[in-house]
Amino acid sequence: MSKILEMKNICKSFSGVKVLEDVCLSAKKGEIHAVVGSNGAGKSTLMKILCGLYKKDSGAIILDGEDVDFDSIRESKACGIEVVSQHIEFVEELSVAENLLMGKMPLKISGAINWKEACKTSKDILQRVELHFAPTEKIKNLSVGEVQMLGIASALFASPKIIVLDEPTPALSQHEIEILFGFVRKLKQQDVAIIYISHYLQEIFDLCDKVTILRDGKNVETREVSGLNKKEITKLMVGDYLSTVSELPVPSDEVVLSARNLTTLEKLNKISFNLKKGEIISLAGLTGSGRTEIARAISGLDKIESGMIMLNGKEVVIDSPKKAIDLGIVYMTEDRRGEGLIMPFSVKENVALPSIDKLKTGLGFYNERNAREITQKSVANLNIKLSGIEQLAENLSGGNQQKVVVGKLLELCPQILIMDEPTKAIDVGAKDEIYKLMRQLCEQGKSIILISSEMDEILSLSNRVFILRDGELVCEYKNEGLTINELLMAFEGGTDNEKHK
Ligand code: ADP
Ligand code: MG
Repeated sequence: MSKILEMKNICKSFSGVKVLEDVCLSAKKGEIHAVVGSNGAGKSTLMKILCGLYKKDSGAIILDGEDVDFDSIRESKACGIEVVSQHIEFVEELSVAENLLMGKMPLKISGAINWKEACKTSKDILQRVELHFAPTEKIKNLSVGEVQMLGIASALFASPKIIVLDEPTPALSQHEIEILFGFVRKLKQQDVAIIYISHYLQEIFDLCDKVTILRDGKNVETREVSGLNKKEITKLMVGDYLSTVSELPVPSDEVVLSARNLTTLEKLNKISFNLKKGEIISLAGLTGSGRTEIARAISGLDKIESGMIMLNGKEVVIDSPKKAIDLGIVYMTEDRRGEGLIMPFSVKENVALPSIDKLKTGLGFYNERNAREITQKSVANLNIKLSGIEQLAENLSGGNQQKVVVGKLLELCPQILIMDEPTKAIDVGAKDEIYKLMRQLCEQGKSIILISSEMDEILSLSNRVFILRDGELVCEYKNEGLTINELLMAFEGGTDNEKHK
């Protein structure tokens, strides 16, 4: 296999903070090369340098034996490099065809766009990734997974020599992941070099030949995947970081929240459960079972048709998100990019804005110094990695973005936190920190409703697990000796094992 790409001693700093230090990475034709590392390790930055989005401070990029240094994505594309980034940016208001063929729209002799031709070409591209919507569909009407698949399709369409997939799977369904993997394997046969970034270590074992591990902007090692196991990779990623598998929270007997026969138009049918002070409960079930809908109902986002919510023994009416927050209930959504953070704003603005009322001085003016203090305290408490509190949220790594979301919500001094997929697409180190934080919050007397698709997360955190199916709560388990298999069986309805009830 011949080497097609070599990145040598790449260095990069952002406002004086070094994020890449002498990083080396090479890629061979027909090889799938994984790049792994904790959030903030520098993976995406390295790829943005490769494709000409960022300028390196020093180092060399050798493509097919020649020194290159791209000034724009257009230039790297022209040399056969396609980078499918974590967050694909299509123009929301335009159609699929216009986005796919941007700059390459087929024209009629008159100079007008040849829509028939454009639609035909787009349809071909779409079919390759088994996407079945019309080329005239607007991007804003697609799901996150569909947009991701579209980005991949568009990169494939360019017939690249090197393709970089930067965390392609978090938004994809199992079926879409299989389609993607099929493609990646086909590209390998066609001698394309593939650089594959993922937090899901299983994917590395399923798909990749080699793995380069980065930590804090430096190379740790490059190894054949076949000689490694998950534990070893994790250790290389996080260094001497020791995971603290601690005990479950110890709740008091006091019930803080009690839902009685909650029913909504959308989904929920007579949901009843209690949440105790200092307790973590999990709402578990397959996608679409109603987990998120419970969160939405309790946090004032969806209208409750019948049933009631009791808070500290008193009936409450939660008819808006503001009301929920006033009552001490905050909802950390699954979609931190869409709802959790304002990406083009600074970390400081994100942390301080929700509590702006508290930040006003006696005269009603916004108090900048308090905002800075609050943010700095949050950054220190939650160990958020950034170059400064003025850094834009969108430039943080996923795990750190998630911590900013938590920081922002804690400023609201909630009694109950609803956390929807709190560790989705974040690395093991940041995951552990979020877990530790959740347990600490319980020790401080807060209570947490966890929604998670990760079985080991549910089992290592929650005191009790409620299983949902089709908008109904079908059973409750105490987390005492509960196993992943039992949980999965319960999701599907294939169990009448009631021993933990
Ligand atoms: P990874 O992809 O491995 O999670 P990134 O490459 O996104 O990590 O980030 C590496 C570091 O660089 C992080 O600490 C991040 O905050 C910082 N960073 C990335 N882009 C920017 C930017 N445009 N401005 C300032 N800092 C940045
Ligand atoms: Mg990244």
